Amino acid sequence: MDKRIIIVVCMLVRKTVRIPVHYETTKSKVDRLGRLTARLTYCISLINGLVSPETSLDRKTLRRLVKDSDIVQKCGLSAGYVDQCIDKVLWAWRSYEDRHGEWQYMYDRAVEDHANCGDDERGELEKKVKRLEKNEPSPPVFDHKVSCRLDFRTGGIERGENSFLLWMHVSTLVKGETMDVPLNPSYYHLKQLEGAMISDFEIIRKNGRYYAHVSTTRFVVDVETSSYGGIDQGLNRTLAIVLLPPTGAGVPREELLYDEKRNMLDKYDAIIASLQSAMASARHDRARWLVEYHKMSRKLKQLRGKRNNVSVYHDWLLANKAAEYTDGYTIAIGNTRFRQAQYRGNGMPALRKRIGKWSYARQRMFIAHKRAERGLSTMLVDERNTSNTCRCGSRLVTRKYLNGASWLLCHSCGSKLDADLNAAYNIAARGMTG
Ligand SMILES: [Zn+2]
Repeated sequence: MDKRIIIVVCMLVRKTVRIPVHYETTKSKVDRLGRLTARLTYCISLINGLVSPETSLDRKTLRRLVKDSDIVQKCGLSAGYVDQCIDKVLWAWRSYEDRHGEWQYMYDRAVEDHANCGDDERGELEKKVKRLEKNEPSPPVFDHKVSCRLDFRTGGIERGENSFLLWMHVSTLVKGETMDVPLNPSYYHLKQLEGAMISDFEIIRKNGRYYAHVSTTRFVVDVETSSYGGIDQGLNRTLAIVLLPPTGAGVPREELLYDEKRNMLDKYDAIIASLQSAMASARHDRARWLVEYHKMSRKLKQLRGKRNNVSVYHDWLLANKAAEYTDGYTIAIGNTRFRQAQYRGNGMPALRKRIGKWSYARQRMFIAHKRAERGLSTMLVDERNTSNTCRCGSRLVTRKYLNGASWLLCHSCGSKLDADLNAAYNIAARGMTG
């Protein structure tokens, strides 16, 4: 059995601070920001066009593809900017692969469950498989304005001494020329920046205004813990948590954390589906189509945005609950894929934005993040076989579905345990022995 611990999510807490560009910024500077961000979007979409699922996802490969193309001439961006666009595309494809890997895992698990289930569960599992089929993640597309992370190569966030407290310093499209854009930080923003390292920032346009999304990194003092626990992320019922008693004495604590996300999302999905079918039927009537298309597609976009916000919001709530419940324990979380494990908490802002209901990685990161804020470390461990091995170590088990939950019956030790809790026990054990 593979018992390796893959990484320890370190006590680095990353946070994004969203600071508006100052309203007194001159129009010429705002215009230049507009041209710069448009050019970056263009560059990112061109680079994205060079990538296919077969492309190997590393900087060297992408740099070579870009070099062999006419993208640099077309965009007229400096090497630093082009490199940052490459990183954006890389990140998008890697997270697509991660999401797809997770999706594949959930899908295969659901198909297998469906093949092995009894008659009473068949309908429910069929729906589950269909739902997953519909939600297979698709490769990244950049057809809207998109930003990339900017670092010292092309700019920085600097403190000011005069009437403006904070500045965004960026290279312009003119070679060798830079500009300083004043920001308008609140007291809260400044507090967030105090004592934190600024790693990079993005220029984001929202509702006609520009913002600097500044990512900050802060060290949190590590809390010493001697107790271990494990978390398994279930399919519907979100989190199964097991906290082992210190030094083996006492009774372990078990907790299933549900969240209300699924119901909320189902509501949005129903509205979205009815709008989509209305759009499909409007398509047959050309005159009506021309009139209503934009209205409908705008509405659809809005709904999708709201749906994602709800999803992210609930994930934060749940992560907070999990962090509270597991305070004082070192926690292991099951991880489906190796590559994801190298993820160290970067990209939180993008994670917040990311759409994906099957984003188990996002949930894990949120939990690790909330725990890190309390100085607690979280390990990602390989979760292979944790769901089909009894916590006594035997694999002579049967899975049974009953009342919407899945149970593991062990023929060796005779125990009957909720399958997700059982997995959480195994994950906790891996965290301890790894
Ligand atoms: Zn057993």
